[in-house]
Amino acid sequence: MKPSASISTRLTAWFGLIFLAGWILFGAAMWLILEHNLSKERHLTLSRRLDRLQELMHRNARGTSAERFDDFHDFATATGSGHAEVFRSDGSVLWPSPIASVVDFPWPPVIHLASERFLSIQAEGQPYLIIQRPFRDDSGGDLVLVAAASEFANRELLTQFLHGMFTLAPVLLLTSMAGGYWMSRRALGPVDRITAAVRSIGIRNLSERLPVPRSGDELERLAETCNDMLVRLEVAVLKLKQFTADASHELRGPLTVSRTIAEVALRQPGVDAISREAFCEIIEESATAAILLEQMLELARADSEPTGFILEPVDIAAIIADGCAAASTLGARKGIEIRFEPGTQSTPDILGHAPSLRRLLWILLDNALKYTRSSGRIHVSLESTATHTLLRVEDQGIGIAPEDIPRIFDRFYRADPSRSQVEGSGLGLSIAKWIAETHHAEIRVASREGEGSTFTVAFPTANIALIHAAG
Ligand code: ADP
Repeated sequence: MKPSASISTRLTAWFGLIFLAGWILFGAAMWLILEHNLSKERHLTLSRRLDRLQELMHRNARGTSAERFDDFHDFATATGSGHAEVFRSDGSVLWPSPIASVVDFPWPPVIHLASERFLSIQAEGQPYLIIQRPFRDDSGGDLVLVAAASEFANRELLTQFLHGMFTLAPVLLLTSMAGGYWMSRRALGPVDRITAAVRSIGIRNLSERLPVPRSGDELERLAETCNDMLVRLEVAVLKLKQFTADASHELRGPLTVSRTIAEVALRQPGVDAISREAFCEIIEESATAAILLEQMLELARADSEPTGFILEPVDIAAIIADGCAAASTLGARKGIEIRFEPGTQSTPDILGHAPSLRRLLWILLDNALKYTRSSGRIHVSLESTATHTLLRVEDQGIGIAPEDIPRIFDRFYRADPSRSQVEGSGLGLSIAKWIAETHHAEIRVASREGEGSTFTVAFPTANIALIHAAG
């Protein structure tokens, strides 16, 4: 499955994106409103200025032309920094602007202007808004009144607004994302706790329950639903356990009875050869079935119950020596020599459960004996490294095919039995693996077909040092 970012990260990213989109929309809307209002206000100002100029011209209609020009001059200087001028309708200047002697202002042409209009031009390095209005004075002359206002201040205001929006954007974005992340972590914290609790619950501790956050929301319902499911699972597993115990009890009885009957019948005088062979087979098969039953029960218990083992320092070398001695008797019958090499270091202790370790060793030795031809040799050794104690069982048997190696620890897996002609259930190594796991050890195998196999169990030894130090 493709790894994806956590929900908090995705929520934070979405939060940031939505905030950014919102901020851009808000900024654009505000800019448009501001620009519209400023422009409206500028148009109105220019229009009012010409209204006042018109009033002035009506008022002074009877004055001399020099007096009227002076009044216009004063008016233009007092309003709009002198940016006003009066043209005749043919486009010639009647009254020049008070600044005309200083600046050559590029007034746009006004010839035959029919109605008022506004124009935007660039002058003196600045944007200007111009108003032009046709006007008939009291003597009947057709004139055009013009005025200009710089738009620099307005543009500057808009630029500052944009600048402010852009400067604030990253600060607000980071703050909102940090806030979003914090909020989502807070909201999803219970999910992490539920996940950790679900992970820690297995078939051996089904009676445990998840913490239920009393939030009254989906998380509370999720935890409660999981707990309900755990209750149902616990009941189902209890029933299965009971069924397995009952079935084993029921099966054990008939097996023992048939074995005993066959043994008794075998001891009767006058049993013919064919019956003897049949009774021997019944006894053998019952014994195999009893072992299989025990192994299945052992694994069923391993799955459903805590081991109950108390791991304590054990003398692993002594356990191995005893196991090898017992197996040597069986080996001798097949002409197989079992040799144990305890290693040169002082006896390595490990934390373990002695009966289980004996069982583990026995499974490995039993397999080594089963799959080694007569007159072969089995070599058992113990080695201490800085962190581990390594138990090795090395045989000169038939070996394991490379394609079988990854599967031999699976339940009921048996590599092609026709190769070995050996009886077995395919459960031994599964039990060995389970025992290794309960000891926090790792079991592995190296093998070459036709040459032999080496099983290694690596027990951690570091914790022993701690125990001794504490003691
Ligand atoms: P089994 O009862 O069949 O021995 P195990 O779980 O102990 O069941 O082993 C699984 C399979 O692994 C065996 O069937 C066998 O093919 C292979 N195996 C285990 N130990 C050895 C060994 N020492 N040499 C060769 N093959 C082995």
